[in-house]
Amino acid sequence: MHAPSMPAIDRIELSETALLTVDLFALTQNWRRLAERCAPTECAAVVKANAYGLGLEPVMRALLAAGCDTFFVATVVEGERARAVSKEAIVYVLDGLAPGAAPRLKAAGLRPVLNSLAEIGEWSDAGAAALHFDTGMNRLGLAPGEAGAAAAFSRGAAPCLVMSHFVSAQSPNDPRNARQIEAFAAIRAHFPGVPASLCNSSGIFLRSKPHLDLARPGYALYGGNPTPAQPNPMRAVLRLEARILATREIDAGECVGYDATWTATRRTRLATIGAGYADGLPIGASSGLSRPPAEALVAGRRRPIVGRVSMDFVVLDVTGAPEAKRGDWVEILGEEIGVDDLAARAGTIGYEILTRLGGRYARRYVGG
Ligand SMILES: *Cc1c(COP(=O)(O)O)cnc(C)c1O
Repeated sequence: MHAPSMPAIDRIELSETALLTVDLFALTQNWRRLAERCAPTECAAVVKANAYGLGLEPVMRALLAAGCDTFFVATVVEGERARAVSKEAIVYVLDGLAPGAAPRLKAAGLRPVLNSLAEIGEWSDAGAAALHFDTGMNRLGLAPGEAGAAAAFSRGAAPCLVMSHFVSAQSPNDPRNARQIEAFAAIRAHFPGVPASLCNSSGIFLRSKPHLDLARPGYALYGGNPTPAQPNPMRAVLRLEARILATREIDAGECVGYDATWTATRRTRLATIGAGYADGLPIGASSGLSRPPAEALVAGRRRPIVGRVSMDFVVLDVTGAPEAKRGDWVEILGEEIGVDDLAARAGTIGYEILTRLGGRYARRYVGG
């Protein structure tokens, strides 16, 4: 029989019902692996959205200690948090320059990623900045046809980086990748001697290795699979565990959860665990949808969610696991069930699973 599963950390407060463990050593190993893969290209780290939900400050400190010195955030406020962690780090702000925001970026020593001629004009010679060209996303960035104008415009203050972003680098055979690489090469010709950056996590793994001067991985650092058609080359960084709050047995014909979306077809043993959609577990992980429901590891074995995910709870079918009992910990995410696996069973993507990790979890950082 399995020993009751316990989170692999020293001490656990008895009152905690759900626990998120972030393995900073695994994180730095992932960064090193990516850096090795694109060497001699420099490897930055994208730490926007609170380091994809894992915590900007501890993540950044660990990466700085591992040798990473360039970071990308989305907003000025995130940039200021990054600056508070390190006075020396190079910090780019992907959202660019909101009207009137230049003094605040400058005061914090942040580098805007300028997305338009208007932004270049406003930044003028306020200091180092990147230029972002849109080669297919149609989201943010200068048009390829504006490269000449941007180069002339910014001559007084040459950009320290030119960059673009892949539309579908996670699909290595998508012809858009080659087209974007080609379009970006034409843009770079306007900026001789200026370092260039194109690759997110998945871009780093493209066969053509369009690594250029600086890579910008985010998702793969945090354990997400940058090569979805193949096994995940990255280490798991997160472990999410929740406690069994109660177990019960129900008879065939009885239902579970809101709207009674699941009905037992045999005598069934259930375990109610202490995490729900308020903690970021998607309602799409419920049973009865067009895909199999999400699972959790109970004493080392996968057990499915039955019924609908509630705000604070999910219910697992633990039939045939008499050892599963009140107070035990089950694993929702970890080495065995990765963010991509949970996402696939919840009708979403791993990025959303990470960035919606709830604020209510007890958080532990290990390996720092
Ligand atoms: C978010 C983002 C990245 C990181 O992408 P991942 O797929 O998470 O590696 C890189 N570059 C830009 C411009 C981004 O917005």
